[in-house]
Amino acid sequence: MQEKGILIVISGFSGAGKGTLVKKLLETYDKYALSISMTTRQPRAGEKDGIHYFFTSREKFEEEIAKNGLIEYAQYCGNYYGTPRAYVEEQLSRGQNVILEIEIQGALKIKKLFPESLLLFVTPPTAAELERRLKGRGTETEEVIAKRLARASEESEGIEAYDYIVVNDDLETCVEELHHIVEAAGRAPIRRQAFIKEIREELKGFVKGGQN
Ligand code: 5GP
Repeated sequence: MQEKGILIVISGFSGAGKGTLVKKLLETYDKYALSISMTTRQPRAGEKDGIHYFFTSREKFEEEIAKNGLIEYAQYCGNYYGTPRAYVEEQLSRGQNVILEIEIQGALKIKKLFPESLLLFVTPPTAAELERRLKGRGTETEEVIAKRLARASEESEGIEAYDYIVVNDDLETCVEELHHIVEAAGRAPIRRQAFIKEIREELKGFVKGGQN
């Protein structure tokens, strides 16, 4: 019996290195699939439609909401971001662990809808390191950086809602740690429904056989 994959939410401060971490995880292990979100924000330099995001208009995004085509969506810094439903459901039923790289409002909605989901919060070791990484990225204006730091401060209030904190200092170590967390979480009974059902049925079979 095929166990469903784990729905993994990865959140963290903008600039925490989530993107690099997830990319490395996907390259290293083949049990993971990445959900590509839909957004109304403008593409940054080098970002491609259908790879980094599905870039769309507010109108199209709202149509998608109305069609129930998104598992969750949220507004972040004035733009819509949402998770398309079909891909996630298909990959989970194939047994793939699906990663949603989303912010906290979305993460909380996912936990409510899917109690068996796994919520991970990625953070650099210190706030100073976060600021350094945001500046070093060189793709954002001072104003956007200030907005993202303010948002990080707000988001730090929600960390307790997550199942695990993953400190992204050394990338390789962090990828391994993340994978180990997922492996261990996959052994929790809430994520072993198929196994439990099967062994219970088999045991019932033995009980009937031994009753005469
Ligand atoms: P960015 O503009 O830096 O790519 O993303 C801004 C924030 O939106 C990040 O925290 C990112 O994780 C989050 N985000 C990306 N896609 C989604 C989504 O589908 N749903 C939600 N709720 N947040 C998302």
